[in-house]
Amino acid sequence: MTAGFDLASRAALLGLSPRAFVRLAQSDPRIVGDAATATTHATRRLRAWIDAGQPDVAPSSIAFHGCDEVRAILVATLASIPAPARWLATHVTWFEIGRGDRVGYMTTFDPRRSIVGDAPHVIVIAGRMADEALPSVIAHELGHALHRSWQSPIADADIAFAAPLTEIEFDARVLAAFEGDCDAAARLLFRGEHLANETAKLWGHPCGAHQCPDAIRLRIFRERMDGVADRAAQIGRQVDIDLEQRAVATIVTTPNQNLRARIT
Ligand SMILES: [Zn+2]
Repeated sequence: MTAGFDLASRAALLGLSPRAFVRLAQSDPRIVGDAATATTHATRRLRAWIDAGQPDVAPSSIAFHGCDEVRAILVATLASIPAPARWLATHVTWFEIGRGDRVGYMTTFDPRRSIVGDAPHVIVIAGRMADEALPSVIAHELGHALHRSWQSPIADADIAFAAPLTEIEFDARVLAAFEGDCDAAARLLFRGEHLANETAKLWGHPCGAHQCPDAIRLRIFRERMDGVADRAAQIGRQVDIDLEQRAVATIVTTPNQNLRARIT
């Protein structure tokens, strides 16, 4: 998080003069709120919006494939969020699946929309969810798109899990990297979810009871970690949770190389 940064530092993050930064903040404080600038990737996307001339695009110009009811909710939600987030939403290909009986639209979509230099983003909305739940889900998923690694359609956590380790080795090494501190390890693994929630909240759409709050994720992770040694024993392996630099580097050196620094 950027909390505690002085104004000049926050302006410099976006490549702006302090005066230009203040003007931007006055136009809509949510644009430069902590959650909106909490990763270098989000800052880069905000910068791309600034370089494009700070456009305020019509929410109806999205690429959406799904039923009209959900499209209307998506358009209304996008109208309520800050201009750069709305602009990002027009660089995403949106799908809705699970409501109505439309099939076959997958053959017609164009997934190539992206900010210049970035990778295309795709967001799938679960149309079976209740109408009132959808705005916060939409904002949460767009929050992921804002913070996702630049040029990568894969979330940071997914990259970490792609490490060539068994699940048990992975769990054990994550735990070792944080010297047995489950909460710190969980904060790394679920950092993307936390950021998406914080971002959606900043935009006026806090996660509801239908989404998995951070506290529940922490509890589930703690329970999973409790069983690591037992599960390893069951398959005849002893898990070595000594800090091993190479494995730790695999986990910690995702595109956000300062993950640990941000957590501690
Ligand atoms: Zn999420």
